[in-house]
Amino acid sequence: MKMVDADPAVVEARLAAGAYSCASCGSGRLRPWGFARRRVLRRYGEPVRLRPRRSRCGSCLATHVLLPTFALLRRRDLAEVIGEALLARFVRHDSRAGVAKAAGVPHPDTARGWCRRFRSNAAGLRASFTTLAHELDPNLGPLEDRGSPEADALEAIGTAAVAAARRFGPAPVWQFVAGATGGLLLANTNCPLRHEVARCERARRKEGRPMMSTA
Ligand SMILES: [Zn+2]
Repeated sequence: MKMVDADPAVVEARLAAGAYSCASCGSGRLRPWGFARRRVLRRYGEPVRLRPRRSRCGSCLATHVLLPTFALLRRRDLAEVIGEALLARFVRHDSRAGVAKAAGVPHPDTARGWCRRFRSNAAGLRASFTTLAHELDPNLGPLEDRGSPEADALEAIGTAAVAAARRFGPAPVWQFVAGATGGLLLANTNCPLRHEVARCERARRKEGRPMMSTA
């Protein structure tokens, strides 16, 4: 699985140009290799149909499903929906029921699960995104304390997103987060940010595109 641009036309063009590198061997280039199974995601309760591209490495022959950065790995709801729910819960302190209702999920347990997982990942996410923010903007001062591990993590995420936008051009925040975490924002494993700065620099030099569309 590899996170790619949210725009399918851009993905096709970049696949055709051999612009995506293989995460398995690190050196091969990914080529088109059919499609993964269709799936239906949700955006505030509305269906979003997706048929992710499948790709194969020209060197090691590993196949990779290409997941657009509007989604997170193994989550039915779009990254922006989940992200806004986290902000509502941990920054605005909305009720659990209110958060679930605003997200348009059929059962409140879904939104509760996001919050629980984010809470257990909060310290690691804060550290990773703080580092990323300072790599993107070396003049950045220390981040403000927001009073809880979850709010601190969201502060670091927001600061990194602003720094990325300043450096590479504006981009939807939660697509940036999905790209930077490799879709693993709410995974139950650590999600080391993947040398995002180096990747961005390479992509920017190549084609001057913002950060979530990087190889
Ligand atoms: Zn490979």
